[in-house]
Amino acid sequence: MRIQPRKSLIKIESRDWLTNAVIATDTIKARTVIYQSQEFLILPKPNYQTVQIADNAHIIDHVFANLNHHCSPNTFIDVSDFSLVAERDIEQGEELTFAYFTTEVKLDRPFYCQCNSSNCIGNILGASQMPFKSLMSYSLSHHVLNLTKFASSERYQAYELGPQH
Ligand SMILES: [Zn+2]
Repeated sequence: MRIQPRKSLIKIESRDWLTNAVIATDTIKARTVIYQSQEFLILPKPNYQTVQIADNAHIIDHVFANLNHHCSPNTFIDVSDFSLVAERDIEQGEELTFAYFTTEVKLDRPFYCQCNSSNCIGNILGASQMPFKSLMSYSLSHHVLNLTKFASSERYQAYELGPQH
């Protein structure tokens, strides 16, 4: 069950002249729907501000566009209803982040992550370039999940079958 708050839990702050950050304005319990996008554009191709919601469908939303990446994120985007959901309990003042490869099959602008997480992936290229086993520890959008199913049937067949078969 998800918690539906009645007030805004976020603000957008500028972090430096290039980047913004989305900040929690209150404590947020795990599974809370922090934000739900009501107004967005759908584009056929990704850019650095879009979030992929399906094959060949990418949305621009002003909150999602300002969420930074983290390899141990405190939120995920549920692309089925355009909501931002708390992955764990979040403290007031904490920056909200999500793992870009949970929605993006191939990033428009790949980058080298320096999030200092113990399981930092390093080069962030998109789900299609991620090891299957690493992806499976995340809350994945359905189009990325389909990708891993394909991957499991093709590239990772040996892993899928395992020693028990
Ligand atoms: Zn990282």
